[in-house]
Amino acid sequence: MKILLPKAVSAAWRRELKQAGQREIGGVLLGEALGGDEFRVLEASLQRDGGSPARFVRDPEHHGKAIRGFHERTGHDYRRFNYLGEWHSHPSFPTRPSQDDICAMRDILADGRVGATFACLLILRHRPFRRLDIGASVFTPDGGISPIVVKRER
Ligand SMILES: [Zn+2]
Repeated sequence: MKILLPKAVSAAWRRELKQAGQREIGGVLLGEALGGDEFRVLEASLQRDGGSPARFVRDPEHHGKAIRGFHERTGHDYRRFNYLGEWHSHPSFPTRPSQDDICAMRDILADGRVGATFACLLILRHRPFRRLDIGASVFTPDGGISPIVVKRER
């Protein structure tokens, strides 16, 4: 799987991660299917609260609202515009999914209300004077986890 990441989205992440300091922040990834296994992130919602230095706890209400709003803005064209997955920051750890992260992704895939056949997880880490670190993987309902290629757009 390949994910295209617009500059506007990664620039907003850099700003927010810097501001959040040692606190984890996160949200949902909303995007467009480009055909085959290519997707573009169009929006990333932002939940600033609920995170500690070692943990991000997603607020299902925030996420449900973000997903519903996106579907309204994109005319309920679910085949083309849909939920892609989750993102959060790891200010103090490498951008690999933790055991908690893996459990959270499995819960999301098991949740019939989300109805996702896959869910991506982007983990971000801000480093001063460097490009944003991004660890990306895709989770499937059979328990699989595979790496994703992230292409940063200009
Ligand atoms: Zn994490």
